[in-house]
Amino acid sequence: MTLKLKANLLYDATLALLYPQACAVCNSSVETRASGVACASCWLGTRIFNGDETVCWKCGAEAAGVVAEEKRMDVRCHRCETEAFTAARACGVYEKALRASILSLKREPHVASHLASLLFEAQQRSPLSMATLIMPVPLHPARERERGFNQATELARALAQLARLPLDEQSLVRVAVTERHRAGMDARARRESVLDAFEVTRPRLVEGERVLLIDDVYTTGATVSACASALKRAGAQDVFVLTVARPAS
Ligand SMILES: [Zn+2]
Ligand SMILES: [Zn+2]
Repeated sequence: MTLKLKANLLYDATLALLYPQACAVCNSSVETRASGVACASCWLGTRIFNGDETVCWKCGAEAAGVVAEEKRMDVRCHRCETEAFTAARACGVYEKALRASILSLKREPHVASHLASLLFEAQQRSPLSMATLIMPVPLHPARERERGFNQATELARALAQLARLPLDEQSLVRVAVTERHRAGMDARARRESVLDAFEVTRPRLVEGERVLLIDDVYTTGATVSACASALKRAGAQDVFVLTVARPAS
């Protein structure tokens, strides 16, 4: 972290004590630091998954209808068959408080305790509860230097601490710079651009592990799938994915 960034963080923390912070969604005041950038009522208005939703067992896309608990593993959207990960889940829908939290995390490396506990609750549910090792989706080193931090690493650290799981921030690396949402790039072009973007530097550390990959948003699944295939090639037994949010389906 640069000195300037540290100074900024200290400045923000001091300001938050002196002046109540405005909610990034509705502008009313945020009652507690634990809520992060959104107020309690905006958190209440944000769709958070509780594990009872009917979702594609593999990619977590919302599906129609109600399914008995023992049949949940059979629900499939059939659009994610080629994805390399075992299963992906999100804390909730990319809207209101979750969207504001994600945008804020791109500017400031601070995971509010409410957001950390949402990650923890999602991780505690099956199948993510089987994870043995937590890893963030890496940024390219040049990109990380530019930003000063990796938001996925901040999320992964917060979760690893609550879940008491080992964290590996180093073994999975991004070897190619890829623009996630380059204008004019369709889903297929995006997928091809990240296909070989990741490498495992120390396969010994992921061999036989059930890795839980952490990222902020699940969009097409291309990035986490590329990470998952690198991890699988290195011998990981399973690769689960947890993101803060995914678009409403
Ligand atoms: Zn609000
Ligand atoms: Zn699916």
